[in-house]
Amino acid sequence: MIPLSKEKPEKLGFEHLEANVIDAGKCCSCGGCEAACPIGAIELQNLRPTLVKECNKCEFCWKSCPRMIDDYGPLYTEVFGEDATRDPALGVYRQAYALRNADESIRKRAQDGGIVTGMLVHLLETGKIEGAVLSGVDPDNPWHPLPQVATTRKEIVAASKSRYTRSPNLVALKEAIKDRKLKQIALVGTPCHIQAIQRMRLAPLKRIDRTVVFTIGLFCSETFKFDELMQQKIVDDLGVPLKNLRKLDIKGKLLVYPRGVKESLKIPLKEAQDWVDPGCHHCRDFSSDFADVSVGGAGTPGKWSTVLARSEQGESLIEEMIAAKLFLHEEIEAENLDRLRRIAAPKVNP
Ligand SMILES: Cc1cc2nc3c(=O)[nH]c(=O)nc-3n(C[C@H](O)[C@H](O)[C@H](O)COP(=O)(O)OP(=O)(O)OC[C@H]3O[C@@H](n4cnc5c(N)ncnc54)[C@H](O)[C@@H]3O)c2cc1C
Ligand code: SF4
Ligand code: SF4
Ligand code: SF4
Repeated sequence: MIPLSKEKPEKLGFEHLEANVIDAGKCCSCGGCEAACPIGAIELQNLRPTLVKECNKCEFCWKSCPRMIDDYGPLYTEVFGEDATRDPALGVYRQAYALRNADESIRKRAQDGGIVTGMLVHLLETGKIEGAVLSGVDPDNPWHPLPQVATTRKEIVAASKSRYTRSPNLVALKEAIKDRKLKQIALVGTPCHIQAIQRMRLAPLKRIDRTVVFTIGLFCSETFKFDELMQQKIVDDLGVPLKNLRKLDIKGKLLVYPRGVKESLKIPLKEAQDWVDPGCHHCRDFSSDFADVSVGGAGTPGKWSTVLARSEQGESLIEEMIAAKLFLHEEIEAENLDRLRRIAAPKVNP
């Protein structure tokens, strides 16, 4: 018989994350490791997680990282339970909706149906959250995503629209919890942000589990490098200064809408493939499978949103907002849902 060793296995610290994720080119700059580190030893510098003081090997950074596991199968069971039915392309959801915000002032500023902004404003105004962690815009650098804590309707609305470049939203959790002492937070993010939150809950990181009370996930195919897409292509090639850029969209092509012009300029997605952030090539989640509610433009026409309510609290929020006529509702057509599955499937099962 082999004698049992009394020695505990050696704890793994930041070097484990560095070797397996950062140096391996898998990091998607979600900011999860920076938010998770209890002693503030990690900072994202130029979007790269960097050790800024001695690591005490508590293991929270790598246990929170969405890239440290390849197989998300067990996480579906842990989050949704044994009996939940999982759609192979879209994950577990209770209801699918086509929705748009009834408030035109929100819809006009929003990316699609103004559903994300609408949910956050409603959660805030009904006292269910004290603030939201989301992606705003750097006031000195137009279109530069800036992780932010928003505690007013004005701040939430100002953050609407999609920036298709990296935003490490989770770093703003530090400010929300530690500095501003918020106790009930909604978090908006791409699938990698939401995966990190679920990993933190299971780590378990109690301060995150207690305070992040609602998650809103966006559909996401990829993000692009800022310099290549925004500076070299849009500013230098297309001649659109970023302060004059009204909207960016992805509908089969990258659509660039300068202010005061109705027709978009078009960039073939094939050309844009060279500017995709390398960490996105390792991503297998299109529709933010672990959020309370997931929202995207694919699957619904025009300024409507496709909305998947996954958790019980996600479904009850959407139902409450439809009943209060804050959201306009249409049945989502089966063929549109199938189209959405076809968009999601190559990413989920390449
Ligand atoms: C990087 C990225 C890729 C996407 N890819 C797809 C796609 O392939 N197919 C699809 O159907 N939909 C995609 N979406 C989602 C889509 O663009 C809309 O965000 C979604 O339909 C919600 O629309 P809305 O009008 O409800 O949002 P709004 O009410 O306008 O709110 C948008 C919210 O997005 C957040 N946000 C903006 N930029 C970022 C960012 N870079 N990272 C994290 N959060 C951000 C803001 O905090 C804001 O709260 C993507 C979004 C992003 C950010
Ligand atoms: S989270 Fe823990 S293991 Fe990671 S860098 Fe911080 S102290 Fe080290
Ligand atoms: S993917 Fe997120 S959690 Fe993992 S190393 Fe990169 S920033 Fe940190
Ligand atoms: S493709 Fe994946 S890794 Fe890249 S931003 Fe979207 S969710 Fe994150």
